[in-house]
Amino acid sequence: MTFWSDGLDRLEPYVPGEQPRVADLVKLNTNENPYPPSPRVLAAIAQAVGAQLALYPDPLSLQLRRAIAAHHGAAGLTADQVFVGNGSDEVLAHAFRAFFVKQDRALVMPEISYSFYKVYCNLFGITPQLVPLREDWCIAVEDYLRIDPATCAGVVIANPNAPTGIALPLAQLERLATHFAHQVVLIDEAYVDFGAESALALLQRHPNVLVVQTLSKAWALAGLRVGMAFGQVALIEGLTRVKDSFNSYPLGRLAQVGAQAAIEDYSYCQGIIAQVVATREAMTQALRQRGFEVLPSSANFVFARHPQHAGVHLYQELRARNVLVRHFSSAKLTDHLRITVGTPAQMQALLAALDAVLEPA
Ligand code: PMP
Repeated sequence: MTFWSDGLDRLEPYVPGEQPRVADLVKLNTNENPYPPSPRVLAAIAQAVGAQLALYPDPLSLQLRRAIAAHHGAAGLTADQVFVGNGSDEVLAHAFRAFFVKQDRALVMPEISYSFYKVYCNLFGITPQLVPLREDWCIAVEDYLRIDPATCAGVVIANPNAPTGIALPLAQLERLATHFAHQVVLIDEAYVDFGAESALALLQRHPNVLVVQTLSKAWALAGLRVGMAFGQVALIEGLTRVKDSFNSYPLGRLAQVGAQAAIEDYSYCQGIIAQVVATREAMTQALRQRGFEVLPSSANFVFARHPQHAGVHLYQELRARNVLVRHFSSAKLTDHLRITVGTPAQMQALLAALDAVLEPA
C-alpha cells in the first residue's frame, strides 16, 4: 500500500550541497558570498519585526519590484517587467511550469549545467534535449543554431554556466534569442555580477528572453531566499499566473524589506563583488601553481582538476582538514572540484590544506 500520488516515486529530488553545522569549517561548497549582506538589510528587517508580522505581506511585492526596476534603470525596466520569488530556484520552477510544458517538444539545455533544470523537467514531465559542451567546456552557440526551433519547447542557459564558471558573450546570447524567436530563451544569471554580460540588455528587443537572477550570490542574501525574473509583460504575466495558482505570498515581509534595503545599497554590493573577484584571480593563480587545471571563471567559484590527484580523493582529504568543497560524482565531472571563492583567509586555509595533501611531509 502506498499513500503517495501516482508518479511520486519517479521524482528525483535535488540534493543540495552539504550544509553541515561544524564550527570552524571552511565552507566553500555552495557558492555563498563569504561576506555579510549590507548592514542596511539588518536595519530594515529589525524595523519590520513587530506587529506588522501579524499581517499578510504584499502578495505583489510591489515596492521591492519597483526598487529592482529602478536599480536596473539603464535597461529601461518597469516594475511590471519584474517578477520576484522565493529564491531563483522557485522562480525557475514557475518559469518551467509556465513556458516549457509543451507536448512533443523538448527543452534545450547544456548537458552540463545547473542540475536543478533536470529535476524540474522530471517534476513537470518536460523532456530535456541535452547539448554537450565542447572539449574546452564551453557552450558553442553554433550547436544550438543547428536545432530546428519548431521541435523545441524553449532553451535554458546558465550564464555564467555552472559548474564551469565560463560565460558566453552577449552577442552569442542574442544569436540564440534570434534563432529561437518563438520559444522562451531563459538565461539564468545567478552568477552574472561576478564578471559576465547581462542579457537584460536584450529584453526590449527580444520578447522571448526571460532573465533570472538571485540575491543569493553577489548580494550575500542566500538565507533570505529572494530570486527574480525579468522579461516583457506577457512573460511576467505567465509567471504570475503560476505563482497565484501555487502560493500568492511567496515573499514574506522580512524578505521583501530586507531585499529592498540590499538593492538600494548597490555600492556595498559592488565592494564585496570586487573583493570576491580579486580573490578569485589570486586563487586561480595559486591553484595553477600547484598543478591544477583551472577553467577561466566569471563566477564566484572555480572549476578545477589536478591531473595527478582524483577529485574524490582531494575532496575527502580536504574534508578531513575541515575544508569543504564540492565534488560531483557524475562520470563527466568526477575529476573536478568546484571551489567557492571565500575570503583571503579562507583561501589561505584551503591552500594550506591542499599543500598538506599534495606534498605530504
Ligand atoms: N541557478 C544557478 C545556476 C545556481 O547555481 C543556483 C544556486 N546554486 C541557483 C540558480 C539557485 O539559487 P537561489 O535559489 O539561491 O536563488
